[in-house]
Amino acid sequence: MTVAERLKKHCPKPIYDCTYRELYAGISQMVNEMIAERKPEPCQKKLYYVSAEFLIGKLLVSNLLSLGIYDQVERLLTENGKSLNEVEGAEEEPSLGNGGLGRLAACFMDSVAALNLCGDGIGLCYRFGLFKQVFEENRQTEQPNPWMDTSSFLEKGRRSYEIPCGDTVLHSREYTISVVGEKRVNALHLFDLETVDETLVEEGILYDKAQIEKNLTLFLYPDDSDEAGKLLRLYQQYFMVANGARLILDECRERGGNLRRLYDYAVIQINDTHPVLMIPELIYLLVKEGIGIREATEIVKKTCAYTNHTILAEALECWPLAMMRKVVPHLVPMIQVLDEWTKKKYSNPKVAIIDADNRVQMANLAIHNTFSINGVAFLHTEILKHSELNHFYQIYPERFNNKTNGITFRRWLTQCNPDLDAFLCRTIGDRFRKDPSALEDLLAHAKDKKVLEELLIIKQANKRRLCEYLPWELNENSIFDIQIKRLHEYKRQQLNLLYLIDRYLSIKAGKLPSMPITAIFGAKAAPAYTIAKDIIHLILCMQELTENDSEVSPYLRVAMVENYNVTSASRLIPACEVSQQISLASKEASGTGNMKLMLNGAITLGTEDGANVEIHRLVGDDNIYIFGARAETVLKRYGEKSYVAREYYETVPELKRAVDFITGDKLCSVGNRQCLKRLQNELIEKDWFMTFPDFAAYKETRNAVYSDYQDRMEWAKKMLVNIAMAGYFSSDRTIMEYNTQLWKLK
Ligand SMILES: *Cc1c(COP(=O)(O)O)cnc(C)c1O
Repeated sequence: MTVAERLKKHCPKPIYDCTYRELYAGISQMVNEMIAERKPEPCQKKLYYVSAEFLIGKLLVSNLLSLGIYDQVERLLTENGKSLNEVEGAEEEPSLGNGGLGRLAACFMDSVAALNLCGDGIGLCYRFGLFKQVFEENRQTEQPNPWMDTSSFLEKGRRSYEIPCGDTVLHSREYTISVVGEKRVNALHLFDLETVDETLVEEGILYDKAQIEKNLTLFLYPDDSDEAGKLLRLYQQYFMVANGARLILDECRERGGNLRRLYDYAVIQINDTHPVLMIPELIYLLVKEGIGIREATEIVKKTCAYTNHTILAEALECWPLAMMRKVVPHLVPMIQVLDEWTKKKYSNPKVAIIDADNRVQMANLAIHNTFSINGVAFLHTEILKHSELNHFYQIYPERFNNKTNGITFRRWLTQCNPDLDAFLCRTIGDRFRKDPSALEDLLAHAKDKKVLEELLIIKQANKRRLCEYLPWELNENSIFDIQIKRLHEYKRQQLNLLYLIDRYLSIKAGKLPSMPITAIFGAKAAPAYTIAKDIIHLILCMQELTENDSEVSPYLRVAMVENYNVTSASRLIPACEVSQQISLASKEASGTGNMKLMLNGAITLGTEDGANVEIHRLVGDDNIYIFGARAETVLKRYGEKSYVAREYYETVPELKRAVDFITGDKLCSVGNRQCLKRLQNELIEKDWFMTFPDFAAYKETRNAVYSDYQDRMEWAKKMLVNIAMAGYFSSDRTIMEYNTQLWKLK
């Protein structure tokens, strides 16, 4: 059957008469039908990637590409006066993730399927997902994001379990989303609550946090600033792993496996600490099957691997034993036994599972009971081994390894930047699709003026398209300087802002930049993270000031996209020229936004942090702009507690001028004085992520970037080198490393 014949079956009217909603429904039904026709590939051993988040983005186009029918569908639509772009517009993005960690899980699932490996994801089906960000009066507000209503790739699964939770039993319902590779279809198993009640939600994202049997799967990362919220998060974590564990054991049995050799049938990659309860839960279930607890622990240890994502102290999760008793009373004896064993062997309190305050240290629980502990970029793993987790590295040196993160080029090149993709195929052939390192063939064209000009033309077209997509009148001939990532003080959006304020003040003083600048932000802040929300407030106030001041707007615009997500990322990234990766050195484990932007020909302005270190090594000093304190210096400063922000404030005049501006009349006329004052105080009195010491170097380096930008051919050459060297950051490479070194599938 041809694609045209197939589609006809699923559309109520001829294509040219259909609405875009009808076309979306018809095409996605057709896609589901074609996926269902694929024969399942049998597999002996299977990967289970367990993650609280899967930030997968829209699926229509990637499924069409994976099925190999994208061109046919596009042509069919065009012939009927319709555009595939508009069809995609009718799709709602699944709201199942928050940031880099969730997007990594999505890229990994894509690569696992593309490499024809057997591997599924396990997570939760959050009805309202992460909140939807809405700006009101220059501030972030939060709304529910009911993405499931229109989602046609989410299918009801066949599994449902009874999960004992605290003093009740919860009933689960499996949903699945197919992950389509060229040769195989894997699955994302997302568990929902049979009894979930969406009407519980009152205003915004407020609801009764105590009614677990109704609220458990309503939102990702519910506000945990009170006790009920904390308990809810623990219930969610347990619900996820309890369902996952049952699914894994069931599948092992279905394949005729012996649970005593679970590791021959399953490998479980635990994404950060949220799914760590998988370990005691599996031990518990195996013990129930009649296996002794020692043997059960050994089986689980040989099956599970743990990925560490952060060294931020606040993110090293721990749960009071008292809370564990409420939520998972049956696991407490398991955890206590594991704790006793380790305390007998190791006296260092830093490696205890239950600490002196009777809290369960989730990372410690994982490290003792998994066969692999990996960091997500070279520098991050080094810091884990030699500083943050050194006490563990001394015990288990062989368990520590690095897996530098990656991104799927299918979404972050082919799909989001078709012009660049086509240019690459024209210039170096399509070998890079199977072997991403083949992008280096582009280096042979580094002096080819025509090639360089073409790169600039593609970038310009993407900038124009972005301008059409965004709600402001922006100057497509200005420099597009972009910082898109979660709002967090360690990522230092505030440093970017201090530069922009300084620029604004210079313009007001008559010192005009030689090139107009458009600074674009995209970021959500956690609803209870006050300072992060104050930073968003300041960005939005600067947006208003630069938009409405005719002395400034021709030279400087600040713009912040609402509800930054995968869909907007796919528009912003191809249009970016300067990629802001300015985290405080040692704090960004890897970053993956940096890789997406590099691949799309943006030049990195960054600190020597996370995967920026590897980008720097690959492209060399001439093709990246690095500034600021190195990780060693930062760790030393923290160690000595020697940093005093106020000293910089008082001795660097331009810095003082910018900081003072935050509460000046200009900003207070468009913003809220209290919020702005709170932010200013935080900076002067604390500045925990050390923006002030890096300010002067940042300003100087950023000015150098803008100055170098003007030599268009030299700039295009930098773009070319970045694209050519990005192959290393393909998640196909990362997944092959996981597989050959850890998972050993096939
Ligand atoms: C890639 C991505 C991120 C991660 O960005 P970082 O700069 O690495 O923090 C976050 N959100 C979305 C939507 C992304 O696509």
